[in-house]
Amino acid sequence: MGREERPLILVSNDDGIGSVGLKALAESLSGLGEVVVVAPDRERSAAGHSLTLSRPLRASHLDEGWYSVDGTPTDCIALAVMGGLLPRRPHLVAAGINHGANMGDDVTYSGTVSSAIEATLQGIPAFAMSVAGDGDFDFRAAARFAKRLAEEILRRGLPRDTLLNVNVPNLPPEAIRGVAVTRQGRRVYSETVVRKIDPRGKTYYWIGGAAPKWERLEDTDYDAVSAGRISLTPLHLDLTNHRVIDELKTWGLSVNGGPPA
Ligand code: MN
Repeated sequence: MGREERPLILVSNDDGIGSVGLKALAESLSGLGEVVVVAPDRERSAAGHSLTLSRPLRASHLDEGWYSVDGTPTDCIALAVMGGLLPRRPHLVAAGINHGANMGDDVTYSGTVSSAIEATLQGIPAFAMSVAGDGDFDFRAAARFAKRLAEEILRRGLPRDTLLNVNVPNLPPEAIRGVAVTRQGRRVYSETVVRKIDPRGKTYYWIGGAAPKWERLEDTDYDAVSAGRISLTPLHLDLTNHRVIDELKTWGLSVNGGPPA
């Protein structure tokens, strides 16, 4: 294979350029082609799919194939692909390995998943990879699986408008009990905002109080991960609830009291 034919793989994340998971992902994919890392210069977890429009962005070239950007995960993908940071259009975008799960209803908060969404919008196959734990992360299983998955995506491609969201149990590779193709699970929201009084007597709020709880639903990402399996969820960009379209048409909504269009 000629040098120009080696796959170009863009790696990004939302935990920031110094993240251990990012390094693990970049290293694991380096055997498959040319890897370029473009990641936020600090942690931007829960940045969602936000894009910075109110100020200019700067990229810093830190090392060969390593760039940081003073923006969001989505900014990173935009600068890499459309801003000329990459030598050519990437064949694959891999996001992660995130320090913490990105499952179920949480995916729209996730900067990691949003990096993959942005790549998908630009027509580039992408996956997001997260380790479901809250400390003492073991990235070995996720790194190994990322390489397998990347190989397969480079060979097969992905359906249009589809990205893969992967959550890996925080276990050593030998303790992983297989791979499950799953659907998004459902969070139980409770006590997620802490309200307290600061030293000057004013009220403050801090989002993310209690550990997340999940509904016990079969075939979900949470279900798989809690059983020690790697969860592989195909996500698509169309948020439309197609089943509700016909019902909504019967509401007879109009602005001027006349018949709806
Ligand atoms: Mn994160």
